[in-house]
Amino acid sequence: MSDIIAAIATPTGEGGISIIRFSGLDSLSIALKVFCTPNGNSVKNISPYKAHFGSIYDPTTGKCLDEVILTWFKTPKSFTGEDTIEISAHGGIFVSSRILGLVLDHGARLAEPGEFTRRAFMNGRIDLSQAEAVADVISAASDKALQAAIIQLKGYLSEKITRLYDRLLFILSQIEAAIDFPEEGLDFQKRETSISELKQIHEEICYLIRTYQQGKISREGASVTLVGKPNVGKSSLLNALLQEDRAIVTPHPGTTRDTLEEKIRIKDIHINIIDSAGLRKSPEIIEQEGIRRTRSAIENADLILAIFDRSQPLDENDDLIFKELNDKSILFVINKSDLKEQWPIKSLKEKIKPDTVVSVSVSAKEQSGLDSLIDAIYNCVINTEKSDEAVFISRERHRFNLVQASLSLEKTLTSLENHLSEEFVATDLNIAMNHLAIILGKVVEDELLDQIFNSFCIGK
Ligand code: GDP
Repeated sequence: MSDIIAAIATPTGEGGISIIRFSGLDSLSIALKVFCTPNGNSVKNISPYKAHFGSIYDPTTGKCLDEVILTWFKTPKSFTGEDTIEISAHGGIFVSSRILGLVLDHGARLAEPGEFTRRAFMNGRIDLSQAEAVADVISAASDKALQAAIIQLKGYLSEKITRLYDRLLFILSQIEAAIDFPEEGLDFQKRETSISELKQIHEEICYLIRTYQQGKISREGASVTLVGKPNVGKSSLLNALLQEDRAIVTPHPGTTRDTLEEKIRIKDIHINIIDSAGLRKSPEIIEQEGIRRTRSAIENADLILAIFDRSQPLDENDDLIFKELNDKSILFVINKSDLKEQWPIKSLKEKIKPDTVVSVSVSAKEQSGLDSLIDAIYNCVINTEKSDEAVFISRERHRFNLVQASLSLEKTLTSLENHLSEEFVATDLNIAMNHLAIILGKVVEDELLDQIFNSFCIGK
């Protein structure tokens, strides 16, 4: 790539420093045109990877724009793989725009969002999953999200996928040899070994798919939805968790007619907590839309807090909740523990399979039991398989391709076990490998690249 892209790499606003970055063939010659010694003498040579103190001069007016530090990252050992210059100027909006303008006047063009990272990818400095990790590091808002992004940036996910890909490639080579030399075929020994190796690979892919929920929660936070019949204390509980009066609390059933979303943070995880309209049979028309939204909030939740009022008998509206929950992850919250109890907790557990669902007793009104509730929410949300493996996936794109790969591997295994022709086996195996290659960006369409890099900020 020959053209030079330039951008202010730091956020717009006043601050300590601003970094103007440009990258591409001949970046150095632009630097030499605008960068001078502190007293204005022109500079003939700049050594790479060293910080040089000097001034930026506008050659047309001869005026000094700022005192700066300039660093040249020499191709290929730079983020983009190209000659890259970084100018650290004083952090003002006007001064940094003037320096950028000067660089543009000398032949650079304004970079698109994520274009530096896109070049790093195109020049083979990083693969696609690492490029995505750059965006994840920038947007990480918790230790967990940051840790996940760094692991991916360091290339551990790519290494894992590459190893799986290479193992499949080896099996494919055996199968293709059998196609090329049909009289020998895929002998028994090789078939058995391939089947057992494919099963292992399949299991490893399925494991990675299962890490998605965890990865997604680290990256985006978890969605927790409060459900229960009207008047059990959903809004009161939301207020108690938020420590403020955000949701309207009234003694009349059906007050919360819409869903209300708030953010809280529990330890290192962000939680989007949604107070839903209460579920009940034969609601008024106006409540029906609220109930439709509740269903959708249930559908998208990582955890449901199913709330019951211990001071009132359980009724058909409580039963309605069990019908709605299906296979969702649930935590029972028994509210109004300050009032006299009307039913034993075991009568609740009898209604749901498996009956191992955790329950916590609270009083939203008196704010008691909240610490236990917060601990229980955290444990339910991060509850996944324990493993020494640090690699996990957090992007839907990765999950989708791994699922497709695992489905194709299942077909491959069925074909092998049923002694179908090697051509069949090879076709499905190729599809599985192709999906792994898509994650790494080995096969990739411009449209996908646009989609990924457009979500970056300019200057990254
Ligand atoms: P929602 O319809 O499920 O959102 O219920 P609200 O939060 O609006 O509460 C309904 C009524 O129950 C209000 O009068 C609250 O003050 C009351 N309430 C909520 N939580 C408690 C509690 O823990 N103890 C008692 N005694 N009353 C509560």
